[in-house]
Amino acid sequence: MALPSGADCLIIGGGVVGCSLAFHLARGGMRPLLLERATLGEGSTAKGAGGVRQQFSTEVNVRVSRMSRAMLRRFPDEIGATAALREIGYLLLATTDVEAEQFARNVEVQRTAGLEEVRLLSPDQALELVPELRGDDLRAATFCPTDGLAGPHEVTTGYAAAARRLGARIVEDCAVEAVERDAGRVISVRARGQSVAASIVVNCAGAYAAVVGAMAGVSVPVKPYRRHIFVTEPFSLSRPAPMTVDFHTSFYFHPEGDGLLLGMSDPAEPPSFDTSVAWDFLEHLIEHATWRLPVLERATIRTGWAGLYEVSPDNQAIVGEAPELAGFWLCCGFSGHGFMQAPAMGHLLAERLLGGEPEIDLAPYAPQRFARGDLRPEAAVI
Ligand SMILES: Cc1cc2nc3c(=O)[nH]c(=O)nc-3n(C[C@H](O)[C@H](O)[C@H](O)COP(=O)(O)OP(=O)(O)OC[C@H]3O[C@@H](n4cnc5c(N)ncnc54)[C@H](O)[C@@H]3O)c2cc1C
Repeated sequence: MALPSGADCLIIGGGVVGCSLAFHLARGGMRPLLLERATLGEGSTAKGAGGVRQQFSTEVNVRVSRMSRAMLRRFPDEIGATAALREIGYLLLATTDVEAEQFARNVEVQRTAGLEEVRLLSPDQALELVPELRGDDLRAATFCPTDGLAGPHEVTTGYAAAARRLGARIVEDCAVEAVERDAGRVISVRARGQSVAASIVVNCAGAYAAVVGAMAGVSVPVKPYRRHIFVTEPFSLSRPAPMTVDFHTSFYFHPEGDGLLLGMSDPAEPPSFDTSVAWDFLEHLIEHATWRLPVLERATIRTGWAGLYEVSPDNQAIVGEAPELAGFWLCCGFSGHGFMQAPAMGHLLAERLLGGEPEIDLAPYAPQRFARGDLRPEAAVI
């Protein structure tokens, strides 16, 4: 298929973030063109755990996530498709005094940002929610019943279909090979050997955001890190469990079909684009998993996969116009929480690109913060 010669706005990358942005721009009257080098949603979006959490440590992240949660609730009416939303809650476990203090501060920030339903729990209260947990080393926990899970595939394809209905053009199997500039402005991109003119280009390339940035001569401080997920054969606990996170080790689990989904990060993992499964990591994960949830000794692993986190220096998204190149915008660096932030971020950035003032100020996510040394570290990272 021949590409159009130009577009109001050109989006590079068709993961959940690019598709959300395409929908929100099209709804606002633009006719964006989204170019995806493979298939929509097949990058990090397809590899995620589907977690939707509002329990963050910075006020702006809590506000953004609350907005996303509300949008996911409205998704069937607004988008005409299911978001597969399940509000099963998120239970975060603290095992050190430092973590317990951080959790208490987080809850204050979260309440200030309007998340009234979040609760600081004692270890016993946490064990009431998941009786099989090992509890002797717990110091505190937090629980938010309106956190939960949604479907990355459903949300991505829902946004893409709704964007197309509103006039957005979405092209798969179409890798952007170059970003062309003139006099400090972006003017076009090259794909399939053709040049497509665009005065606004948005980098939504996820873990590849730095590679796409380099095409434009823009330094994007996003590094790819491999993260694993494993799923058990049918396995049930005595009561339906929330998404449960052992904050210290980063081990987490939640119900997935008739089994449990298990995940954990590996602090020794170097940055790379490797997405092969390191089965020896499973042994390491199982050690932590069976410590926290001893009944897992009886579980069998059915499958596993690995995908890429797209990590920024302060674990916060990077959203805004690149200081080095007018018209070249970044919407990347979500640091492992891009699925849950995609609905709100697509909406907020679209408001900005359509010439309005976003309902939530995007200044904390500005790319300029790195040059200024004004980092805003997000502490609630899994
Ligand atoms: C194991 C794991 C668990 C996770 N769990 C969660 C979770 O529970 N909750 C949560 O919110 N987040 C989670 N995440 C993170 C989440 O998956 C990402 O933050 C999110 O999917 C990012 O979406 P994206 O659209 O920016 O990136 P992607 O989905 O990676 O999309 C980027 C797209 O850009 C395309 N692209 C790249 N280069 C080019 C080019 N040159 N031309 C055209 N297209 C290009 C790629 O093909 C890709 O499809 C998890 C991630 C992993 C790996």
